[in-house]
Amino acid sequence: MTTVVLATHNAHKVQELSRILGPQLGGIELVAYDGPEPVEDGLTFAANALIKARAAAAHTGLPALADDSGICVDVLGGSPGIFSARWGGPARDSDANLELLLWQLSDVADGHRRAQFACAAALALPDGIERVEESRWPGRILRERAGAQGFGYDPIFHPDGSPVSAAEMSADEKNAVSHRTQAFSALLPQVLALLG
Ligand code: IMP
Repeated sequence: MTTVVLATHNAHKVQELSRILGPQLGGIELVAYDGPEPVEDGLTFAANALIKARAAAAHTGLPALADDSGICVDVLGGSPGIFSARWGGPARDSDANLELLLWQLSDVADGHRRAQFACAAALALPDGIERVEESRWPGRILRERAGAQGFGYDPIFHPDGSPVSAAEMSADEKNAVSHRTQAFSALLPQVLALLG
């Protein structure tokens, strides 16, 4: 059995990723990472996902998977983007992040509220081999919260083609289409080829 470290301290992401990846990994066991967190000073989702995966692989000596994700709003030039987790300040408070974004868009008309959730999924092996894939989930930012499932910006994100917000979807409904699922699905064949 090959063991792979999941390089995130975000319990929601561990849960989502275990559900997304678990059934497809065959003989690969996922374990949570509890080592030191690196400084995420990359300028792209891909760079930051690789920083996290690299740090976990170096600390544990095991292959590591990581993601970096966020919400990109067209009218804000792609922000919050890589700053999504600390948009409302250094406390990284989900409510503060979401409320600030809602306030910034309060005067923006319905037709100009396009946004995408973005996710980069990275694999780093202790020997230096690295892979990364990025994907986006398009939609728009709502005027107020809807729903209580999910996490982060889910209550104010309305995915294209969905009758409800991301926070009104069940975990399985969100995982069928999300940015995280798409990025890890693109990475999976490479994980299996290298480790399976
Ligand atoms: P990271 O943990 O550094 O990748 O930061 C991710 C940021 O984007 C956090 O603020 C999350 O709340 C937000 N985010 C990423 N993916 C999602 C999602 O699927 N739903 C809601 N918020 C998300």
